[in-house]
Amino acid sequence: MFADVPEAPKDPILGLNELFREDPSPLKVNLGVGAYRTDANRPYVLGVVKRIEQELASNPNTLHEYLPIEGLSDFRTLAAQLVFGENSGALREQRVVTLQSLSGTGSLRLVAEFLGKFYHRGAICYLPRPTWGNHWNIFPRAGIECREYRYYKDKTHDVDIAGLLEDLAAAPPRSIVLLHACAHNPTGADPTPSQWQQILDVVRERQHFPLFDCAYQGFASGSFERDAMAIRLFERATLPAPETNSASGRPLEMAVTQSFAKNMGLYGERVGAAHIVCAVPSVTKPVLSQMKQIARALYSSPPAHGATVAARILKDPLLFAEWETEVQVMSSRILRMRRELFDALRENGTPGTWDHILTQIGMFSFLGLSADQCLYLRDKYHIYMTTNGRISMAGLTSDKVQYLADAIKDAVTR
Ligand code: PMP
Repeated sequence: MFADVPEAPKDPILGLNELFREDPSPLKVNLGVGAYRTDANRPYVLGVVKRIEQELASNPNTLHEYLPIEGLSDFRTLAAQLVFGENSGALREQRVVTLQSLSGTGSLRLVAEFLGKFYHRGAICYLPRPTWGNHWNIFPRAGIECREYRYYKDKTHDVDIAGLLEDLAAAPPRSIVLLHACAHNPTGADPTPSQWQQILDVVRERQHFPLFDCAYQGFASGSFERDAMAIRLFERATLPAPETNSASGRPLEMAVTQSFAKNMGLYGERVGAAHIVCAVPSVTKPVLSQMKQIARALYSSPPAHGATVAARILKDPLLFAEWETEVQVMSSRILRMRRELFDALRENGTPGTWDHILTQIGMFSFLGLSADQCLYLRDKYHIYMTTNGRISMAGLTSDKVQYLADAIKDAVTR
C-alpha cells in the first residue's frame, strides 16, 4: 500500500538536532536548535514555573479535564493583555478574538486556516526573505500562496528597509504580510521604531493584513513592552478614511500569534495564543465561532497544563515580577555570549566585520557564513548550525567561545 511513499527530507532545523545526537565527538557544539541553555549547557526550567508545577502536583483538586475548544479563559485574557498592553483600544473595545492554541506553530496554522477560508479569495501571503522555514510549510498547507518580500541585506547585515517598502508597496492590495514582532528569526535584525512606522504606512496605504509572529516577547530585550512595540503601534493604527477626510478611520484589522515556548521555557508544553483584531466588536462572535470550528477539527482542544502555569504567572503581580527577572537573566546571558564571541573574533584577528553580532537581537545571530563554511565547521569541528549561517546564541557557552571563534577564523581564511 505505501510502497511508493517517498521519504520526506529532514526538517532543516530539527534534523540538525538528530545529526548532533549521532555525533560521538566530545568537542561537539549544538548551535542549531532554538532552545535556551544555561552557561553549563543545561536546559532551564524557570524557578517560578517549577514552584507552580509543584503546587499543581500536590493539589488534590488538580484535574485532567478537557479545556474548552478556545482554551483556558484566564490564559486567553492575560495573554492578550501581555501582547497588546493594558491600555489597548482593541481590548477595551472588545474587538479581539483570542484562542489558546498549540504554541506559536499551532497558532500560526489556526490563523492561516482561518484566513485561507475567510480572507478574500486568492490573497497572497508575503513572507520576509529569509524567514523561519516553517512559515513556508504552514501557509501553503492552508491553501495560501506565499511570496517573499526583501528583508535583509547581506552586505550590511541589516534590514533592507528600502527593498522591504518597495516590495510591500508593489504587492497586490489587501495581501497578508507576515512580520516578526521582534528578534527576527533567522537574522536577528529588527526594524528601528521609525522603520516600523514606515512599514505601517505602506501597510495602511495598501490595506494589507498584518500578521505578527510573536515568538520572543521579553526574550529579545528583556522588556515585554519594548518587544511588543511594533504590535502595539499597528494595533493603534487606523486605515486612511479618504471619503470622510477624518483622521479617525476604521481600525486596522490584523492578527498576532504568540508563543510562550521561549519566554517561559515551556517549549514542549505548547502554550500559545492566536489573536484576531477585528475592526468592529460585532464580528467577534462569528469569527470566534469559526476559529473554534477549525481548532475542533485540528486538535479539538488545547493542552491544559502549560496554560494553567502561564495563567498563574500572568495573573499574580509577584509571580509576574519574578518571571520578568528570570527572562532578563536569560536575555542577558545571550547578550553576554554575543559580546564574548565578538571579542574573541576580534582578538584572534578573524577577517571581516563582526559588529552585527552585537547589533543583532534575540536568540539568533546570522553570522554571514556561506553554506560551504557551515558544513566545514560541522565536518571538521563538530559545530552544528543551519547552513544559512544562523547560530543560536543560547546554545553557546563561555567555555566554547574560543573554540568557536578559532573554528570560524579557520573557516573564513582557509
Ligand atoms: N515563529 C518563529 C519566528 C519562531 O522562531 C518559532 C520558534 N522557533 C515559532 C514561531 C514557533 O515556535 P513554537 O511553536 O515552539 O512556539
